[in-house]
Amino acid sequence: MDILTKRETGYVGRFAPSPTGPLHFGSLVAAVASYLDARSQQGSWHLRIEDLDPTRESASAANNIIQQLELHGLNWDGDILYQSERLDSYEQARDQLTLHEHLYPCICTRKETDRVYSGRCLNKAIGDLSQPHSLRFHISESELTIQDRLFGQLQWTKHRDMGDFIVRRKDGLDAYQLAVVVDDIHQGITDILRGADLIHSTPLQVSLFKALREPHPRYCHIPVVLATDGRKLSKQAFAEPISSGTAVENIRRVLNFLNQKNIQGKSVNELLRNATITWNIDRIPKLRGRSEKT
Ligand code: GLU
Repeated sequence: MDILTKRETGYVGRFAPSPTGPLHFGSLVAAVASYLDARSQQGSWHLRIEDLDPTRESASAANNIIQQLELHGLNWDGDILYQSERLDSYEQARDQLTLHEHLYPCICTRKETDRVYSGRCLNKAIGDLSQPHSLRFHISESELTIQDRLFGQLQWTKHRDMGDFIVRRKDGLDAYQLAVVVDDIHQGITDILRGADLIHSTPLQVSLFKALREPHPRYCHIPVVLATDGRKLSKQAFAEPISSGTAVENIRRVLNFLNQKNIQGKSVNELLRNATITWNIDRIPKLRGRSEKT
């Protein structure tokens, strides 16, 4: 089935974890929400392991995530897509972008770059390309707007919120933004449902979709789970891995966090089946982050 045909048949969703550690409660929330949204619309739901960076990620973390999803009844469609096996496709996309002059070499160090990159290397003739350089994507739009299914209209302005960004790092590794977009196109993803911590990536990805002449998916960002100290639960902040021994309780906690009320069920499958029937995005609080207790 080619991409267009897949898109025409309806909803295609995905969960796309980076295997930097075992699955924690925050990632389970994103997995369950994207799963329920897909299934409630008779859509398909795919699992993509974003293992692009061997310095931060491990096969054991990927296996833990896969096992936990299975134990929590989150069954995906088709084969798992591993980004580490897709490097040729990212290279092809870079070729396609260079061809249309969307990329430029950048020799700035991380220290020299601000949160929103100023475009310092954009018009610099970098004569010696044998020196370490990254490749940056040039955002040509001065403004981008999308309709988020939970947050409504979101708008970003060049220089204030979106700077040219790296698609290939100095060490030769492909960067997250490009790989995500290439794979979302490849898998025919129609709907992205993910944590609001990724909102700032959305305009960058939308700009890439446009440059690759593809429609971008619909977006829905959901609140991230905050620890009691107000920080996002993350593997980097050593969030505790979820325990498979309490899978039913874990799913209940997720449904509670997503404000999906009174879901009955004694097993994960029963809970998920019932939650699919009553799934309602509008019940999710319109917040970028919240702690489980509020
Ligand atoms: N791999 C990313 C992460 O684990 C998520 C990518 C996405 O959902 O677009 O944070």
